[in-house]
Amino acid sequence: MKLGELEFHILSMGHVLLDGGAMFGVIPKPMWEKKMSPDARNRITLSMNSLLIHAGGKRILVETGAGDKMNAKLRDIYGLDGPFLDTELRKYDLQPADIDIVVNTHLHFDHCGGNTRVEKDKAVPAFLNARYVVHRAEYDHAMDPTERDRASYFPENYVPVREAGQFDLLYADAVIAPGVELVRLPGHVPDMFGVKLTGGGQTALLFGDLVPTTAHLPLPWIMGYDLYPMMTLENKKRWIPQVVREGWLALFAHDDRVPAAYVRERNGQWETEPVTVG
Ligand SMILES: [Zn+2]
Repeated sequence: MKLGELEFHILSMGHVLLDGGAMFGVIPKPMWEKKMSPDARNRITLSMNSLLIHAGGKRILVETGAGDKMNAKLRDIYGLDGPFLDTELRKYDLQPADIDIVVNTHLHFDHCGGNTRVEKDKAVPAFLNARYVVHRAEYDHAMDPTERDRASYFPENYVPVREAGQFDLLYADAVIAPGVELVRLPGHVPDMFGVKLTGGGQTALLFGDLVPTTAHLPLPWIMGYDLYPMMTLENKKRWIPQVVREGWLALFAHDDRVPAAYVRERNGQWETEPVTVG
């Protein structure tokens, strides 16, 4: 898809299966299972969507999926089927070494597991020529998570990148290439970035985990995983109406069926109009 000079594609880094109850917080199961039906272990299927962006002569990859470093037990718990990084990049005649900038909206394993790969029993950066970008406070948090969110953070996904001197840790919103802006969307974690793409008079917004799937558009549909659900609520109230009003294309990090859609208001409800992004 093109937005003026800027071009982007949605890549699938595979699937992760997460507990349906945890994914929908206070929403009762009879409601959420109508939208996403769980398997025998009560898990729903989420995809790990990445963006490949060409902007200002840079090749930018947003999110790297869960990677391939997890042990068999965890791969089973999370139903991981990836990694598809190499095959997805190959569709565009690219290899990891061709990527200039890697963006992690935050450092949960399903967003940054592909940052590194194992070489001779050691995790090393998978993108040799890239600068990696994440919010500094999220990096600090990932180095010392709480008891409540420790299970989502695996230092081998980001410490080797820091040790290789490849991280650019950001303190605030930043334009990282023409038409590519990282905007802080707190709630899921306090310092998560969303990615706003602009060009040719059009705008697209990757919500990160603020609105992980189209099913999470209604305001109270907030993940149980969120550290600050009231902050999520506040940011959903701020950003979704803007997406609707200004006709932005919404990009969903975990929606397997509708990774991109316009959101329209009809009879006081938000409805999606799916868009195919190659
Ligand atoms: Zn996620």
